[in-house]
Order: sequence, then structure tokens, then C-alpha cells
Amino acid sequence: MDYQQLTDDLHIKFKDEIDKGKVATYIPELKKVNPNKFGINLYTVSCESYGAGDFQDKFSIQSISKVLALTYALKLVGNKLWKRVDVEPSGDPFNSLVQLEFEKGIPRNPLINSGALVVSDILISKLKNPKTEFLAFVRKLANNKQINYNKDVVASEKAYGYKNAAHVNLMKSFKNIKNNVDEVLDFYYHMCSIEMSCEELSRTYLLFANGGKLTYNDERIISRGRTKRINAIMQLCGLYDEAGEFSFRVGLPGKSGVGGGIVAIHPGKYCISVWSPKLNKKGNSFKGFQVLELFTTRTESSIF
Ligand code: GLU
Repeated sequence: MDYQQLTDDLHIKFKDEIDKGKVATYIPELKKVNPNKFGINLYTVSCESYGAGDFQDKFSIQSISKVLALTYALKLVGNKLWKRVDVEPSGDPFNSLVQLEFEKGIPRNPLINSGALVVSDILISKLKNPKTEFLAFVRKLANNKQINYNKDVVASEKAYGYKNAAHVNLMKSFKNIKNNVDEVLDFYYHMCSIEMSCEELSRTYLLFANGGKLTYNDERIISRGRTKRINAIMQLCGLYDEAGEFSFRVGLPGKSGVGGGIVAIHPGKYCISVWSPKLNKKGNSFKGFQVLELFTTRTESSIF
């Protein structure tokens, strides 16, 4: 398979296609993005990289970072984490409060906002300098010291984060948040503000295609078993309330973010990232979804 040819073809095919999506505006800073940006990058476990379009431009990875926070928290506290967060798909939007009250402050899964807020709380309890240590962890996975938080995005989210504040407060009332509410929100917003290019994203998430080991030095970060579980959670919960549709049409574990990125993993083979900021009605990149569908069709490489 000529992957470079394929990524180029997909880029050409979708570049000028009508995009019915809309850039996320509820975080004002995200509105500033050029809506026509479009990049694709494929990284194989043998470390070959194939990119097309704006695949080296950085963007706000937003919720995609929740997988990295989960990975770090699992490393630190192990299976105890599952007492505070469940592993079921929510079937509701990522920021829905409805289920949380019925289910007594236990989030459905770690990839919706409430779940990631509990994971943030765990990291704060375990780390001396949570923001610095989390960033160092991400940089290690990325093998790249140029990965950073975007302070403007943090400030923008803080100013408009009424619902996230509601989540933390509600969970605190059920005793599922141990630390100070503002501290949890501050960490969570930093985590969401991380910027990466498609190439950096694929490189970082290659860990989950490589059984939990870094490809660049063979260091084990998490066990095979935990890698399997994280991929399973991405498969069931990674695309908001469109995870079923993503499994149906793409057939890979994946995670999306409101910055317009989607990362998808083929265990044992590759990691692919797409960025196009306009989102469909469920909050997933409109073009990204289609690119990945055609990619797994052309390569006949879904996990199913
Ligand atoms: N920081 C965003 C929020 O909390 C993340 C949303 C996302 O990418 O799903 O609303």
C-alpha cells in the first residue's frame, strides 16, 4: 500500500468538498481558527510518517487529551480509578449533566467532561506539580519538548466554563471530587488546551497502537492489558454520542475534540490523525469523520 499516495489522494478529494460543519464557538478562543485548515497524518508502528495538507500546523487538541490523562492516572492509581468512573458509553453529549445526578456523581466514562474532571482530580491528588508533571508526561509520549499548553485557550474556557463548573460542584456534592473545585477546573482547562499538529498527535498516540510501549525507545509506559482497555474505552466512548456511528463507519478506536481533531488507532499497525475545524452536529470534525471512513475502506484495515 502506498500510504503517501493515499493520504495525498484523501486530501485532494476532501479539500474542496462542501463542509457542512461549523467551528466550535462556545469557547471564544477556538473561533479564531482558520476554518479551512485541513491536515492528515498517518504514523505506522515502524515509525514511518505520511502527511498531507496542514499536518504540521498546531491546533487545540481539546478532549483528545483526556485519553492521556486517563493513561497517566491509571499508571498512578491502577484499578482503583474504576471505583470513581464507569466504562459505559453515555449516549449523551459530552457535557451533559443529566445522567450525573441520576448516577450519584459517578461519570459514565473517563472521556466525557465529568469523567475527565474526576481523572483530573486524581492527578491533582497524586502529583506534586500536576500541570508541570502532566505536560512532562505528554512530552515524553510525544518525544517532543515543544508540546505546550495554550494560556489564551485556558483563560477563554475559564471565563465561559459554567457547565464544567456545574459538573465539578455536582460531583463534589456526591464526594467524588476531593480537591478544591477551582484547582480541578484549572488543571482540566490546561489539559484541554494542549496544542499538537496531526503529526505530533499520531506520534503521541502511537503508544496505543504499540501495545503500551514507546516506539522510539521501546520503553513500556502501560501494560498490554491496560492499553487494550484504553483502546476499548476509545472505541465505545471516544466520539461523544456518535461513537456507535464511528465504529460502524470507521471501525477503529478513536478520540475527537472540539478543536476539530480526530485520532484513530489500529492496534499493532498505525495511528492516524485528521484535523479540520468545522464540526458536525454531534461535535465531531465533519471532514475528519469522512476521511477516516474512506481511509479504512481503501486500506481494508478496520479492526472488525
Ligand atoms: N475543553 C472542552 C470543554 O470542556 C473540551 C470539549 C471537547 O473537546 O470535547 O468543553
